[in-house]
Order: sequence, then structure tokens, then C-alpha cells
Amino acid sequence: MTGEVWAIVVAAGAGDRLAADRPKAFVRLGGRTMLAWSLSMLDDHELIDGIVMVVPEEYEERASLLADDLCAMKIAAAVAGGVTRPESVAAGVACVPEDAAFVLVHDAARPLVPPEVVDRVVAALRAGAQGVVPALPLADTVKRVGPDGSVAETLDRAALRAVQTPQGFPAAVLREALAAHTADATDCASMVERLGVAVVCVEGDERAFKVTTPADLARAVQLAAEDDHDDDEHD
Ligand code: C5P
Repeated sequence: MTGEVWAIVVAAGAGDRLAADRPKAFVRLGGRTMLAWSLSMLDDHELIDGIVMVVPEEYEERASLLADDLCAMKIAAAVAGGVTRPESVAAGVACVPEDAAFVLVHDAARPLVPPEVVDRVVAALRAGAQGVVPALPLADTVKRVGPDGSVAETLDRAALRAVQTPQGFPAAVLREALAAHTADATDCASMVERLGVAVVCVEGDERAFKVTTPADLARAVQLAAEDDHDDDEHD
């Protein structure tokens, strides 16, 4: 499979804070697994040419069956991830064809990301950005604290953003960032920033929130149910 824009869905995390009996991406949300939500959105998206799923070891076959169930046409591979997120991203990038121009990396833990966020990320890449993150302003004031838990500094909220996924990069830039030191990176953009490459923000979306705790899952279940209800009303 070839194409200009590839998406890697990283779903290899254990999701310990969700305290479920299976890896987080395979927890059910509405009528399907969390992973299925973003796969189906990306598969339907006209700007996405190919998709790689990165799943926990021994879940590769289950992920392929899930893709079959969705009748997804663009999923090229389901591969095992690593111990860290960067290792999982690297496993996914290894399956992206050499001639792909752009790679979007998306957390399966953000199942309800709307397709418009993909539009904005790809538009910024096509306009020449070397790194793109969807971002939202913060509602809370953020403080840096010392090892003893006391406040060391109050940060300027106006200059802060919470960043989401999918994050997008020219494929060559992401490959170069992964080849450098990456172990402690919590997102892809921070690896690219360390190369000295400028990363730009596009508008994120409240619905792209990350499901981490049981309360987040309950919120996602409710939003998904409201969508189903809206669809029924329009049928
Ligand atoms: O752990 P965190 O919430 O940062 O995970 C964000 C995303 O990265 C999740 O979708 C998770 O499945 C994925 N991940 C992964 N491999 C890891 C750790 C996290 O694919 N080793």
C-alpha cells in the first residue's frame, strides 16, 4: 500500500489507571472497543491513505480481526508495541512505506477525536510545518512544584497549552527524532522539538480528551451514547 499521509494508532499501553481486566485500547466504549473508534474515523477520513495499529504483544491477531469487523480498507499492519510510548511509535513507523510524505501519530486512548482535527493537522503539514500538535488553552492555573510538593513557581497560563493527538510530522522528521534519544518522551512532538525543529499548534478539540481513569471512560461512554442518539434522530 502506498500513499501520502499515514496514521499510526498507538494502542500498546496497559492503561493501569483504568484498572480494567484488559489493555486499555480493548476496553469497550459503547458497542465497540476504544481502539475501534479512532480506527474507524481514520479509515473513513479522505485525507488518510494508510493506517498502522500498534498493540500489546499477543494482541496483533485480535486487532486484525477488529479491523476486519470494521471493514476497514486502509489498515496495513497490526504490530506489537514496546515498553515505552516512543518504542511503540518506532514499531509503527517501521511499517510505514518509505515514500510516505507525512505521518500522524494518534493515541488510541483518545477515541472520540473528531475528523476535523485531522483536517487541521494535515493542512498545517501541507503548508510546510515540520511538526503539528492539536492544542487547547488551559482552564486551570498550573504550578511547578519541588520534590517536597511545595510550589516553586506559578506558570503564565496564557502561554500554556494542553496538547492532544493526532500529532503530525513529515515522515523523515519523525524518523530522525526516533533515531535520537527518546526514552522519556511522553509525546512525539517533544522528540522533534529536541532536534531544534519548530512545532506549531492547531486548534484541538474537547472531544479528543485522553481516557485515563474510570471517570474519563464514563464521560466517553456518555458522549458516545449522545452521538448515537443524535444519529437516530436524524435517520
Ligand atoms: O500512557 P499514555 O497515556 O501516555 O499513553 C498514550 C497512548 O500511547 C495510549 O494510546 C497508549 O496505548 C499508547 N502507548 C503505547 N505503548 C506504550 C505506552 C503507551 O502504545 N508502551
